Amino acid sequence: MGKRFYIVTFGCQMNVNDSDWLSRALLARDWREASGEDDADLVVLNTCSVREKPEQKVHSALGRLGTLFRDRPEAFAAVGGCVAQQLGPELLRRYPFVRLVFGTDGIAETPNALEQVAREPHLQLQLLDFLKAYPEREDAWDGPAAEHEDSPGPAQCFVNIMQGCDNFCAYCIVPYTRGRQKSRHPEAVLRECRRQIARGVRDITLLGQNVNSYGQDPGGAGMGFAELLHAVAALPGLERLRFTTSHPKDIAPEVVRAFGELPNLCPHLHLPLQSGSDAVLRRMGRKYDTARYLGIVRDLQEARPDIVLGTDIIVGFPGETDEDFEQTLEMMRTVRFESSFSFKYSDRPGVAAVNMKPKVGSDVAGQRLARLQELQNEITSEALKSRVGALETVLFDGPSKVQSPGAVHWRGRDAAGRVVNVPFASSQIPSDLAGKMMPVRIMEAKKHSLIGEKAGEPW
Ligand code: SF4
Repeated sequence: MGKRFYIVTFGCQMNVNDSDWLSRALLARDWREASGEDDADLVVLNTCSVREKPEQKVHSALGRLGTLFRDRPEAFAAVGGCVAQQLGPELLRRYPFVRLVFGTDGIAETPNALEQVAREPHLQLQLLDFLKAYPEREDAWDGPAAEHEDSPGPAQCFVNIMQGCDNFCAYCIVPYTRGRQKSRHPEAVLRECRRQIARGVRDITLLGQNVNSYGQDPGGAGMGFAELLHAVAALPGLERLRFTTSHPKDIAPEVVRAFGELPNLCPHLHLPLQSGSDAVLRRMGRKYDTARYLGIVRDLQEARPDIVLGTDIIVGFPGETDEDFEQTLEMMRTVRFESSFSFKYSDRPGVAAVNMKPKVGSDVAGQRLARLQELQNEITSEALKSRVGALETVLFDGPSKVQSPGAVHWRGRDAAGRVVNVPFASSQIPSDLAGKMMPVRIMEAKKHSLIGEKAGEPW
């Protein structure tokens, strides 16, 4: 009977994708997935250190495991992801039950390393070297799927196209924890996309820290991002194509044009702005200004008038004045992002901004964050309300998280990636909708999602 594992994932979509692959690789080795930390022989923490808080969460999780494992000496933990890359050996010293630390380039070797430490009770291993080329992994997608809350639905998946980043934005720890940019060979990307489509996937998101600079290193074998987009979009059976994360300094005109040329390239783009102040953008080392950003937005809307934009914003970057912050709010009112991830700046070890002064007080940053999120909620609510009455094609991925008596709600996404929930009276529940694309009339807007009803044929 195989050992039982449980994976806890913190942070970005790349971590979620890594955890998903690691689960499948362990299941393919006859490990079994535990229902929680309490009944696991191995707990894997796949970690994030993009801000102070996530790093603290790792230490509190390890503290909890230390107590849990006190009466179970055979149980052990492994720590992966960005905190492992950042603190690796210190974690092995500080937490003896941590028997493996693996960085983001070490994940491909992790299943074998876990098998080894499981066989040799006192062994501790580390996989922290940065590699020159993208570390291809064994193909574990045909194994049984792992039951993860945040795993994509059966018809959607994320395909890594690169690892690491060369930009060294002044606040960002990623180049130190994920290493330099390594593009994945285009043939390997296409092969995985074909396999996913053969498995029934209809919606693929190409994943990387800065996908727009794909191929600007030897790994891309001379293929640029626009070319890769066209090659993936041309794969038979692919209904929806997306990509994340983009960088305004690298988004090429041919990528913008692709939104008008590729029918299955979805009308949604996540384009981190970070700040609406040119002075702050300069200090962040973002290498674009607000005029350039607005120019890209204009070109995108010309290429694809129904395009929906999302973004990332940092408030409280060192030296940010009230006026800088007002400029950020002004950019949000101008661009009208339908969604945004927004955070208070926090010092990260080794990044350039650590030495930048003056620091913005946590209270001031907190007030700015609250104002920004209030504005975002207004813009989001308005945008979602404007969808009421629209006819959308929804790709269903499973039962909704929220159900109500006497009805069954199914959840899916429209082409722009908005969540749409459709209630069915218990007498009318259709057979398995997962992976199906159906016409839906939008009836109501909620805070972050839409309610629809089935419309027309085919149903
Ligand atoms: S582009 Fe900048 S913010 Fe994004 S991962 Fe790279 S260094 Fe970090």
